Amino acid sequence: MYDVIVVGGGPAGLMASVAAAEHGARVLLVDKGDKLGRKLAISGGGRCNVTNRMPIPELIRHIPGNGKFLYSAFSVFNNEDIIRFFENLGIRLKEEDFGRMFPVTDSAKTVVRALVQKVKDLGVEIRVNAPVANVLYEEGRTTGVVPASGEKIRARNVIVAVGGKSVPQTGSTGDGYPWAEAAGHTITDLYPTEVPLTSNEPFIQARTLQGLSLRDVAVSVRDPKGKILITHRWDMIFTHFGLSGPAVLRASQFVVKALKKFKTDAIDVLIDALPDENEETVFQMLMKRIQQQPKKAVKNVWKGIVPERYLVFLLERMGIHPDATFHDLPKNKVRDLAHALKAFAVKVNGTLPIEKAFITGGGVSLKEIDPKTMASKLMPGLYFCGEILDIHGYTGGYNITAAFATGYTAGRAAAMR
Ligand SMILES: Cc1cc2nc3c(=O)[nH]c(=O)nc-3n(C[C@H](O)[C@H](O)[C@H](O)COP(=O)(O)OP(=O)(O)OC[C@H]3O[C@@H](n4cnc5c(N)ncnc54)[C@H](O)[C@@H]3O)c2cc1C
Repeated sequence: MYDVIVVGGGPAGLMASVAAAEHGARVLLVDKGDKLGRKLAISGGGRCNVTNRMPIPELIRHIPGNGKFLYSAFSVFNNEDIIRFFENLGIRLKEEDFGRMFPVTDSAKTVVRALVQKVKDLGVEIRVNAPVANVLYEEGRTTGVVPASGEKIRARNVIVAVGGKSVPQTGSTGDGYPWAEAAGHTITDLYPTEVPLTSNEPFIQARTLQGLSLRDVAVSVRDPKGKILITHRWDMIFTHFGLSGPAVLRASQFVVKALKKFKTDAIDVLIDALPDENEETVFQMLMKRIQQQPKKAVKNVWKGIVPERYLVFLLERMGIHPDATFHDLPKNKVRDLAHALKAFAVKVNGTLPIEKAFITGGGVSLKEIDPKTMASKLMPGLYFCGEILDIHGYTGGYNITAAFATGYTAGRAAAMR
């Protein structure tokens, strides 16, 4: 008989195990994979973006999927606690752009190894290659888990930390949702977030711009009524199926929601390649350059404004020959180009599937979870933490922070119970 069984050894489950053991509980951690922390090991481009050093209100703003629910958990264990936790384990961290924190080794393995060692040092019993088939509920309370192998394992508290449905090869295959439903919980609609966008535009299908990156652009999602739903300024890339890169990933959940809300097949994503200028100043700048060098080809006169491949692409789209000069160029074409540089519209028709998304949107409804303890309000002894909850943030350490914070909160509360 254990005090606490933690199901799932991702960041949420590992931190829940640490907190439960530190608070005196006899803990069993089970994972179906052969290794713990598999998704953590590939996060942040394999460097593990352990947390983000932004002030709490900013942090919450970067968790558009119910970030406010985390205020209580952050009062128990927040980003600064995560930084202290790893530094106490001897993992030196460094801050990069946008507050992102990484190990100085630039290797996620360092983080996973130290975290797993800490769990072991605290005396947590670990079983890998041990998939859980069910959580046991008897006489209105949680009594343990049923592994796929059959024999019941008893505990007064079970913490479900099995993650979402994204990147299933890391072990997150959505196993926890039916267990939550069996306890009476609601699962909100699941959808891919932080996911590349797909497009049927002929230039995408023809792979005209495949592999082209645009740095520091503003990417907006426009609904069918013409309203801008969100703008994110960062880098993006054209791929063989559509659009990707950090600005696009951040915008993706708004595309998913708008396609559903407006029951439409495609929606516009606008690319502003010159976000510090307005359309008029871009037009004036284009005009000034060709007036100053009237005999030179426009592709040379306007070189450097944006990457050459993108410039030539837009020139062709606007019906401007790249070798045209000032004298062959109607002014309205320059206006069209200025507009395209500021708001080139790409029709996107969806996203890659949830399995290819970085994060799963939706999950166990937060209305049925106590934010101070992550306990189920419906089934005594049952706790949820990490990505299985209806919480999702942008990439940049926000999801991992949410997983550590909810994991620690659940582990502590379960041990205290
Ligand atoms: C490529 C990639 C990059 C990412 N980069 C970032 C980033 O830069 N910043 C950021 O904030 N987030 C990032 N994320 C997201 C982040 O990694 C996840 O949100 C986080 O790992 C979720 O933690 P978790 O503990 O809830 O679940 P997971 O990490 O998914 O762990 C769940 C664990 O449960 C186990 N499990 C599942 N079912 C069972 C079962 N039936 N029985 C036993 N065990 C089970 C799995 O084997 C797994 O070990 C990235 C994700 C991906 C895929």
